[in-house]
Amino acid sequence: MIIRLSLVLLYISEHFGLTFGLPFAYHYNLIDTNEKFTNEFADIQPEITEPTEATSTTPSYWNYEDSSSWSQIYDSCNGNYQSPINIDPAKAITKSYPKLILGNYDCYWPMSITNDGHTVLLDLPRNYPADMLPSIRGGGLPDQFNFVQLHFHWGGDSGRGSEHLIQSKQYSGELHIVHYNSKYGSFAEAAKHKDGVAVLAILMESGSADNSVLQHIVGQFDDISQGGQTAQLHNPILLHDLLPANIQNFYRYDGSLTTPTCQEVVSWTVFETPITVSEYQLGKFRQLFDRKGRTLNDNFRPIQEDRGRVITYRSGNDHQSFNQQKYSLTSLPVQQLQSWEQALDFFKQSEFNSQEFFKWQPFNRSDKLQNILEIPNWNSVDR
Ligand SMILES: [Zn+2]
Repeated sequence: MIIRLSLVLLYISEHFGLTFGLPFAYHYNLIDTNEKFTNEFADIQPEITEPTEATSTTPSYWNYEDSSSWSQIYDSCNGNYQSPINIDPAKAITKSYPKLILGNYDCYWPMSITNDGHTVLLDLPRNYPADMLPSIRGGGLPDQFNFVQLHFHWGGDSGRGSEHLIQSKQYSGELHIVHYNSKYGSFAEAAKHKDGVAVLAILMESGSADNSVLQHIVGQFDDISQGGQTAQLHNPILLHDLLPANIQNFYRYDGSLTTPTCQEVVSWTVFETPITVSEYQLGKFRQLFDRKGRTLNDNFRPIQEDRGRVITYRSGNDHQSFNQQKYSLTSLPVQQLQSWEQALDFFKQSEFNSQEFFKWQPFNRSDKLQNILEIPNWNSVDR
């Protein structure tokens, strides 16, 4: 009886949580249950909104019209390693990072879509099992980073909108896929540490053709046109489909969250290749409203000083980079392998956890089989 009653209470709290849009820190799956109710109070005060990127539990009063004043309230916004920045390719140092590896990026997820007044964001149900989350690793990242949410930045017209600039070029928008370092267990904890957060930044270029996967998101804007509205995403997306065709060429630097509280905890991965979004779709972003009923536009932070920061660049040479990764995974003499059977045995029996390793390879989709066949990079193995 008690169990049944608990279940009913749980159902009611979940149901109303989704329907009425509890504060986003709760929705983000970032804070524990007790804090959620503290933040509910914040939600009924119209002046207080939860920060987009920081997902901090601190109430915030910021807006994009006056981003230069953020630092008066939030100390971190005045730091030396702020984001976004203009990336000067001529100054970027080429590094032979291993390949960036995506985990669970090719699965469908029961995502919510939310207009939080600052952006449109997509995230997963609270307390989603960490080992099932989409994640990234490799590519020079120090650990595995788990997905927490994705969101967009865009401009009032297509001549502006992105946060990062490449060679002083601003794009029409930017998509951020936010991850926390899995060793910290949650975004809230990770955001306290220098190596806590990894964001994939995808520049959005205006074009004539609709972006088909983005249409699943844009197609639901009628449900979230007002700041504070949340809905279930009717047509699930693969995160993989949001990425540019080339994800192995990217810039990397250490910076901050681009919304208050601006913690300097982010390892930024800015893909060199943009994705294309149609003018029609960008127009749909521009028709959204914030929590005060104003048009939600130009939600990008201006570039910050790079202050001599090192920006690195990975040029995608998958074969070479895989070899480096391979040798870092095991000390066994790869050159002794004489056949595919031996190669597979080698992977299964070597020191690293082969199950873990294969889990990271895109085994589930036959169109990526090519990637698997390239694993031992057979032709270039020195025998
Ligand atoms: Zn962002």
